Amino acid sequence: PAATDGIPAAVRERHAELCQEIDDHSYRYYMQNPIISDAEYDELVAELRAIEDAHPELITQDSPTQKVGAPISVDFAAVEHLRRMESLDNAFSADELLAWTQRASGELPIDAYLCELKIDGLAVDLIYENGRLVTAATRGDGRVGEDITLNVRTIDVVPDRLDESVRPAPELLEVRGEVFLPEDAFKELNARLTGEGKAPFANPRNAAAGSLRQKDPRVTATRPLSMLVHGVGEHRGVEITHQSHAYDLLRDWGLPVSDRYRVVTTTEEVRTYVDYYGEHRHDPEYEIDGIVVKVDDVALQRRLGSTSRAPRWAIAYKYPPEEVTTKLIDIKVGV
Ligand code: NAD
Repeated sequence: PAATDGIPAAVRERHAELCQEIDDHSYRYYMQNPIISDAEYDELVAELRAIEDAHPELITQDSPTQKVGAPISVDFAAVEHLRRMESLDNAFSADELLAWTQRASGELPIDAYLCELKIDGLAVDLIYENGRLVTAATRGDGRVGEDITLNVRTIDVVPDRLDESVRPAPELLEVRGEVFLPEDAFKELNARLTGEGKAPFANPRNAAAGSLRQKDPRVTATRPLSMLVHGVGEHRGVEITHQSHAYDLLRDWGLPVSDRYRVVTTTEEVRTYVDYYGEHRHDPEYEIDGIVVKVDDVALQRRLGSTSRAPRWAIAYKYPPEEVTTKLIDIKVGV
């Protein structure tokens, strides 16, 4: 008999249905236009996770809880990442986030956390060899992404060559970050598309993805995309001790690093950061959907390791969706 035989048929059916539904929404989100909100999507995933927590026998490698992103499009050449690109585990409340930091600090001698904004953009991997940009790729399924090198070369803030005025470039540097379309540019683009009788993009993230994943880089060049980097993958010829140390190096090499991150030592300071950006969510020129907290020390990051889809040394807290505010604004506009 199969291991899942003892599970009620209704539960097995709901599990299969959710897997299918979530995969379909992911496909739309990464390849076309999403048809549900991120919060609705997150609810489906939470329901699936709850079923799998109660019935771990249902977990297969193929479950949306175990994998990253979506398959890649045939429109682009495939690029194998040097190091896997991961997703992030979520905390659904500030308390859950703080419980995570407390637990981690209890297990390991963590003396610092790096808090930063979770940019609602598109994950991109850049490879620099001896200081020259050689490939840029989407995250894809985490192992293999889409080659978008020519498109990324059109982004002003992404250097073709690393700046070596402070220190020489390393032999190899794999950098991860988020490509986004600033909100003003998003509004302008949508106004233009609507004026031309074309369908507007659902949100800035979607507009960034659509603009970057163009077959013709000349179209991408007309979209004022920007990027912020927030991680390093494979590297040779440089030692990196802390996440914040990586950011110092990346900034010196001329890569776009945000100045909104903070290195903190206590759970209270993490809470202050979360509260601050809860109140100042629209200060940045890009959309954020939460806060990411990372263990700063790379040696401790290594000890914590990763699950099949996300690092254990980082966590994302997502702010509650803002639908209510949007509706209020709509009403005001209507009046
Ligand atoms: P995620 O977006 O929750 O988190 C992982 C990603 O965050 C990383 O790949 C990274 O690129 C990005 N990120 C942004 N700022 C970062 C920072 N400072 N440091 C590190 N990483 C940072 O997870 P995901 O796997 O990319 O996608 C799942 C999410 O996408 C869902 O939670 C949902 O909100 C959304 N989604 C929506 C739909 C839909 O139909 N609406 C479908 C699929 C996915």
